[in-house]
Amino acid sequence: MKLKSKRVALPTGIGPAVVEVDGGKIVRVDDDLWVEATDLGNALLAPGFIDIHCNGGGGETFEDGGQHEIETILRTFARFGTTSIVGAINSAPREARTASLERLAAFRKPSDCPEFLGAYLEGPYYNPAQRGAHSRDWIREPESEEYGRWVEDFGPLVRVVASAPELPGSREMIRYLSERDVVAAIAHTMATDVEVDDAIDAGATLLSHLYNASSTFTRTDEGKHLGVAEMGLLRDALTTEIIPDGHHLTPRMLELIVKVKPPELICITTDAMQATGKGPGEYIVMGQKAWVTEEVAYREDRKRHAGSVLTMDRGVRNVVAAGASVEDALKMAAVVPARTVCVSARKGEIREGFDADLVVLDDALEVMVTISRGTVVHQREDVRL
Ligand SMILES: [Zn+2]
Repeated sequence: MKLKSKRVALPTGIGPAVVEVDGGKIVRVDDDLWVEATDLGNALLAPGFIDIHCNGGGGETFEDGGQHEIETILRTFARFGTTSIVGAINSAPREARTASLERLAAFRKPSDCPEFLGAYLEGPYYNPAQRGAHSRDWIREPESEEYGRWVEDFGPLVRVVASAPELPGSREMIRYLSERDVVAAIAHTMATDVEVDDAIDAGATLLSHLYNASSTFTRTDEGKHLGVAEMGLLRDALTTEIIPDGHHLTPRMLELIVKVKPPELICITTDAMQATGKGPGEYIVMGQKAWVTEEVAYREDRKRHAGSVLTMDRGVRNVVAAGASVEDALKMAAVVPARTVCVSARKGEIREGFDADLVVLDDALEVMVTISRGTVVHQREDVRL
């Protein structure tokens, strides 16, 4: 397969290029547009989107799914330009968590759909005061015997473990994880600025869903301190995940983030729940009823969120609407997530030797074609490759 376009998102910027794909890899990138190739005209050829925080889609979840269900999720997101996914599993009793990890470990990756990159463990070591949709019954303090099993028994499957760093034993866990190349993320937390810095010292590199389930500036009788939200913007040691769906972050919150945080430290994620790509209605999320509209999922009280129905392409469009350049928004959807979950040696950029994960976007940044490891996994009706 050879594709040429006047607008290819290369590591050096957007410009004309020919991209040759063979055996699932990008084998050649050059700017000789006279060469015989499928001409994409003015359509934008970009690195496929990498979603490092996705709970499910197409009616299925990573925590309950087996082979067929996980494939359904991966195929659902192909429509939205995603070529790789880290599947999130949420707080659960010990046995249920282990069972989810066993199913994910047994998953056989098909070659004709977006790639499953591993698991993102949300909880259960969270602060009850910021539990979000996580059940109070299932969240607890870190137990070294338990998290040690996740890492030792499941190895590279476990990509990210998110926890509240102020809990007793959290700092030891963060150190343990970072020494074993597992990404330690900060989430669902009431941590102060000092506690965030301690977590960074211990090896935390990621902040989950900025401005959601996180502490903020506080004044007490003892004095003032920043919270996790401000520290996520302030510290370059932390890459911050954002959910740019207009609800988890209002347009103004997104505008603030895009203005103050360097683009190379912003990671677009969906935090999508199983209704994504399926439609509105009632669903069960983490054992509780959830109400899903066209734009977001709510807990039963219809006040708090229970995950999003965002897709990466809509996230990119919203980030551009908030003031980011198209180039930066594409980085936040590919190169930053690739680096965050340690796959940047083969994914996230259009580069010779990299996986042929590509997305073709029209002028409105709507997805026309998605290519995962050299295979066309989605093609809009009006497009013929
Ligand atoms: Zn969360």
